[in-house]
Amino acid sequence: PITPCLVAAGLWPSTPVHLVLAFTIKLLAFYLQLFADCMAPNEAFCETLQQFHAVRGVFHCNDKGRPIEDPFCHAWAVATQWYQLGMIMITSHLECALHEAWCLLIPDLLSLQVSEYIHQPTSDSTLCPTCFGGEEWGSNMKIFPDILVQLDGNFHHRCNLSGGTGPSFYSPLLFLDDMYVSKVGCEMEAMQMATQPNAVQKATTLVEEVVAACWDSFKAAQEKDSQGVPGFHDEKGLVVCSCMHDVPLLICNITTPGEHQMYVIALIC
Ligand SMILES: [Zn+2]
Repeated sequence: PITPCLVAAGLWPSTPVHLVLAFTIKLLAFYLQLFADCMAPNEAFCETLQQFHAVRGVFHCNDKGRPIEDPFCHAWAVATQWYQLGMIMITSHLECALHEAWCLLIPDLLSLQVSEYIHQPTSDSTLCPTCFGGEEWGSNMKIFPDILVQLDGNFHHRCNLSGGTGPSFYSPLLFLDDMYVSKVGCEMEAMQMATQPNAVQKATTLVEEVVAACWDSFKAAQEKDSQGVPGFHDEKGLVVCSCMHDVPLLICNITTPGEHQMYVIALIC
C-alpha cells in the first residue's frame, strides 16, 4: 500500500484508502495549531491554499482539463480528522508504554490504570470555573440563581448508518447515555398519560386555533419535517447544555425526528 510510503515521506493521505490527495504533515500540524489558537475555519484555510497555488500558476483540474472550483476543502477536512485520530492513538500507545516502564520502577503503579494518573479526568475539570468555582450554594432564586444554563439543538451533527462506528479513540465525558435519555422520555410519557386530559385545558386561556398555529410554527419539534432521511441517519443531531459563559456542560444525541422535551429534561436533571 502507498500510505506507509507517503507517511515515511512526510505526507498524510486524505483518507486511509482510495486517496486522492495527500498533504504535508507539517502543514496539517500548522493548521491544527492555527485552529486551536485562532479558530481558523477549514474553508478559509483551503481558499488561502488555492490562492497560494494560483499565484504560482498551479491549478487543479478535472478530467476535462477545467479548474476545480474547490479542490481542497473536502479532502483537507477528512485529512485533518484522520491526522488528529492518528495523533491521539500514537499518544495513547506512548502513554501505555510509559506506564509499563514506570511500573518496572514503581510496582505500586500496577494497580492504577494508565488514565488514572496521567489524565486524572474528573467531572469538575470540565465545568466552568466561574459558575462552579464558588463554595456557597442555594442563593435566592428571585434575586439571582446559582447558575444559568442555556440549551439548543441542531441537526447538523448526524451519523450515517452506512458509515459504521469508526475506530474508538476517546471516551466522551460530556455525553449523556442514549438509554438514559430514552428512559427520561418514557417516564415523561407515563406522567403525561397519568395526567387528567382536561387539566391542561382548564389551566390555559388560549383558544385552540392559537395553540394549533403555535404548534405548526414550531418547526424544530415537528416530526413530519424529519431531519435526515429515515433509515439513513442513526443519530440525527445534538442538544447542548452550556452555562452563560458558553462552556458546554452536557450533550446528548437527538435520536428522534424532532427536538423532544425529553432532551431538555434529561440534560438539566
Ligand atoms: Zn459559566
